[in-house]
Amino acid sequence: MSIELAIMEKWINESDNIVFVSGKDFSKDAGFPDYREVDEDYKKKFRFSPSQMLRLSFVQRSPTIFFRWYRERVLAPLIEAEPGIAHQSLVKLEQAGKLRSIITVNIDGIHQEAGSRNVIETHGSVMRTWCAKCDDYFDFFKIYDDPAIVPQCTVDMCGDFIRPAIVLEEEPYDLDLISKAIETVKSCEVLIIDGSALQEFPVPNLMKAYQGHKLILINTPPLVFDSRAGVVVRNCGTFNDMFEKMNLKF
Ligand SMILES: [Zn+2]
Repeated sequence: MSIELAIMEKWINESDNIVFVSGKDFSKDAGFPDYREVDEDYKKKFRFSPSQMLRLSFVQRSPTIFFRWYRERVLAPLIEAEPGIAHQSLVKLEQAGKLRSIITVNIDGIHQEAGSRNVIETHGSVMRTWCAKCDDYFDFFKIYDDPAIVPQCTVDMCGDFIRPAIVLEEEPYDLDLISKAIETVKSCEVLIIDGSALQEFPVPNLMKAYQGHKLILINTPPLVFDSRAGVVVRNCGTFNDMFEKMNLKF
């Protein structure tokens, strides 16, 4: 085990006030690929990039195109995803009273599926479905089970389309939730950040808010941020590999 990973193990074992920030790489370890990735196969199938489609104006204008992509590239792989040892370790750390909160920029709900309870989802979640017109929420299966490509709200003959309750471009974040995330980080002892989340709002703000000396960055490319990190863990494999190697006291 590398020295960096050994330090991470020690800090986790010694603390009962840990916050973990997860990004797309953490979900990848549960078999859920990055839905924003564009490869050659993607270009043959889809005319618009995910970032073009994940805009409020696009979804309103072209729901058929959006939902065709969403069903194939988000829902279908998500059904296949399975939490691994990394997700399960966070569940055990929470149950042991050591992990205070997970803050995630992911929208896939895999932490909760694994059994984590205190999860702050800064970008919303596809596990909830929303009708903007009625302001009603439904579960994941309301979209998944709808035979029509564009799923419709059935409340009182509403007929408007329903959509995943995620924050699209051109939409505001839930500022109460962002404040809650910042407050949580301010008072934690150990802050662990998945490097793949570093570029996403509000993670840079969380880094700034952190007041402790046990910041752990995992799998980041060399960055300016590194100077603030107590330890940077690199080249230790996937999150599943890392959690398998560490001897954590749950
Ligand atoms: Zn409705």
